[in-house]
Amino acid sequence: MSPRPAIPESMNALLLSRFGGPEQLVPSVRPVPTPGPGEVLIRVAYCGICRHDLLTRSGAFAKTPLPVIPGHQIGGTVVSLGPDVTGVETGQRVSSLIRIGCGDCEQCRAGNEAYCETFRARFLGEDLDGGYAEFVKVPDHAVIPLPDGLPLETAAVASCTFGTAYHAIRTRGQAQPGETVVVTGASGGAGLHALELLRHFGCRCIAVTSSDEKSELLRQAGADEVIVSDNLVFADQVKALTGGRGCDLVIEVVGERTLDQSVRALRKGGRAVLAGNITGKKAQITPAHFILKEISLIGTRTCTKAELQEVYDLLVSGAVRVHVDRMLPLEKGSEAHALMEAGASRGRYVLAASAD
Ligand code: ZN
Ligand code: ZN
Repeated sequence: MSPRPAIPESMNALLLSRFGGPEQLVPSVRPVPTPGPGEVLIRVAYCGICRHDLLTRSGAFAKTPLPVIPGHQIGGTVVSLGPDVTGVETGQRVSSLIRIGCGDCEQCRAGNEAYCETFRARFLGEDLDGGYAEFVKVPDHAVIPLPDGLPLETAAVASCTFGTAYHAIRTRGQAQPGETVVVTGASGGAGLHALELLRHFGCRCIAVTSSDEKSELLRQAGADEVIVSDNLVFADQVKALTGGRGCDLVIEVVGERTLDQSVRALRKGGRAVLAGNITGKKAQITPAHFILKEISLIGTRTCTKAELQEVYDLLVSGAVRVHVDRMLPLEKGSEAHALMEAGASRGRYVLAASAD
């Protein structure tokens, strides 16, 4: 093995000091964080860009303390440990949980950090400096070791996309083999990875997208049928594709703009899992639909470590694959945000921070 490079005092990072457009992600030189008690320093190889980051950047979450380094989908290598770290070693290839709890309450100890009993679990890249940087520090209990054979760029994308989709589909949505499942916003990062998992679980997938050019991509990811609707009206087409019955489950990635159509597309007793809300706006619902059809509206947040480890196993075995659209150097973060905002992405964008 070649000697490990010394940890420098400063690093390149994209710093968000003011909410606004993509130009607010400013390439900056920052001190390399010093890991405190129970903290781990990770050299970031790759950090995925999530739609959530676009909302963070634009100021949709007013409680975000500024300045902050965004980014919550990391793949990297542990380079140093603070005092009293347990369960993590330098040199390990790792990813991190996205929502980081206290690590100490009953829920955290049970592996449900998203249900942490402290006021709220901290979001990496929002409440804590994240992975749009060459180094990031995270608490040891949030670190997830990667299995051999899982590339760091795959891990960086999987921690949010597949982890969130797995929790939404399996744990919250209880998707069963043979069920017909609609995925809205299917051509984005979350949607494509939801299709991959649904195919693996033996579901019949109907993908809803606003543009015809992405149909082939959706079929490759696992869609049995693709509904192209630029005005996002699709309930009647779902009914037609299910013999008038409606679908069993909707994985609602778009949120406010499509929720009403999703509820209309469901069969009696169907379930809608609300996994995303792209605009961040309030949704309008018709209570009668929920009452008369006994529709269940189910929230979903993020995954547990155990779920992510199952996802990693599926990736290593080749049962599912990540969809990386484009890899850009860290300093091109603004450009990547602008392209995603323009709706150009076909899968995840990934920033390469210090690939080694
Ligand atoms: Zn995310
Ligand atoms: Zn906790």
